Amino acid sequence: MPVRYPTAAWIALGVVATAAWFVTATRLMRLWGFSDAAPAIGLIAAAIVALTLWRWAAMDRQQRALAVLRCPRCAEAIETQHEHARPGGVETGLQSWACQQCGYVLSEPLTCTECAV
Ligand SMILES: [Zn+2]
Ligand SMILES: [Zn+2]
Repeated sequence: MPVRYPTAAWIALGVVATAAWFVTATRLMRLWGFSDAAPAIGLIAAAIVALTLWRWAAMDRQQRALAVLRCPRCAEAIETQHEHARPGGVETGLQSWACQQCGYVLSEPLTCTECAV
């Protein structure tokens, strides 16, 4: 689970990490004798890092919205439901969130303390 940062911190982190990886990958490729491909490989590495960070940030935003029972998509109040695990039936508990406003639905396996063991 990624650490929670405010959006500005995510952007700053994204810029720094992306630039750092571009430089690192370009240098490595030059070092290994792929001078021609170095900038391209650097760009690919930077794109992967940027994409990964963007996904983490999106996940972070979603977790934060769900924690306060707000829809991550439209910010309306969201309904939450927990299905307990049942011995011989459902092995893990299931937590689900549903937004009446925009139809956003999310289900995650979650075994709570009251789930049957
Ligand atoms: Zn439960
Ligand atoms: Zn919604």
